[in-house]
Amino acid sequence: MKKHNFSAGPSILPQEVLLKASEAIVDYNNSGLSLIEISHRSKDFVEIMENARALALELLGLEGKGYTALFLQGGASTQFIMTALNLLNKKAGYINTGAWSGKAIKEAKKVGEIIEVGSSADANFNYIPKGFEIPSDLDYLHYTTNNTIFGTQFKDIPQTNVPLVCDMSSDIFSRVLDYSKFSLIYAGAQKNMGPAGTTLVVVKDDILGKVSRDIPSILDYQLHIKAGSMYNTPPVFPVYTSMLTLEWLKGLGGIAGIEAENEKKSTVMYSEIDLNPLFKGFAAKEDRSPMNATFNLTDESLKDTFETMLKEAGISGVNGHRSVGGYRASMYNALPLDSVKALVEVMSELEAKA
Ligand SMILES: *Cc1c(COP(=O)(O)O)cnc(C)c1O
Repeated sequence: MKKHNFSAGPSILPQEVLLKASEAIVDYNNSGLSLIEISHRSKDFVEIMENARALALELLGLEGKGYTALFLQGGASTQFIMTALNLLNKKAGYINTGAWSGKAIKEAKKVGEIIEVGSSADANFNYIPKGFEIPSDLDYLHYTTNNTIFGTQFKDIPQTNVPLVCDMSSDIFSRVLDYSKFSLIYAGAQKNMGPAGTTLVVVKDDILGKVSRDIPSILDYQLHIKAGSMYNTPPVFPVYTSMLTLEWLKGLGGIAGIEAENEKKSTVMYSEIDLNPLFKGFAAKEDRSPMNATFNLTDESLKDTFETMLKEAGISGVNGHRSVGGYRASMYNALPLDSVKALVEVMSELEAKA
């Protein structure tokens, strides 16, 4: 039986994408060859790469606006250092909203001066900082749009003339935003796009080439752009699977289409968290993430009963991150509304029982 997969990452992909991807592993497009045993320079793969890059820009509304999409390796974690090496001259600002932004700050400090423009560390990152001042002399401002571990999300784009650099690993392609406000966006594939192994980077071409340091080749965006995202052997299977997911998303009406679905799911989920006295949400209400809902039991003695019921209902991956505890329901693009309804049903059954 297919389970209800609430895993935080790697996470659920559309079933039709999994089927197509698995076929390509054995025989790509009736070519008699597997996708993963052909040259990345072959016409077949170059087409896949170009299609994936074009789809990413099209879905974000950034076609023809001076941006390039790259599919790189090393995870979002490599982008923590790569963004700084390519963009940091003197001083950059970071908003600290949890574990991932903390890691981004730690890496960027190896490159130059970093100031923390805002932080929610004082409350274990259960909210999004507001009202902070962004100095105008920063090379860029970095923030994490969606905090996967804590279940918070920036609803608005900070107002500033400073270039915005964003880690969108866990909410890329999930909601309508004016993406042209960003100078660089990166996202590990494994939350909302594909298998682990590739990271989407969307970069505005005119912010590059402004630092004087000698950037290691593999970490230089300009070299990757020049090479058409094929500076070295790209991760062919994650790129292909991501392309399939982006095609699936386009077929659903793009980001606007999926956002409507995501809103339905998060409304059902958070209504239950708020109405059921056995549960308490972790994140501040106004900052709640539609992608990752974090919550706790109000009565810990129900833990074993609740978890047995979850298991029996085929619900998988709702355990919280070790730094928050409790539960986390990740509701990425590919998760059906029915899975959320199944989880909510178990929560209300628990209330009826207790
Ligand atoms: C998962 C995650 C990362 C880490 O991604 P890797 O690909 O494992 O390096 C970084 N940022 C955010 C917001 C994440 O959710």
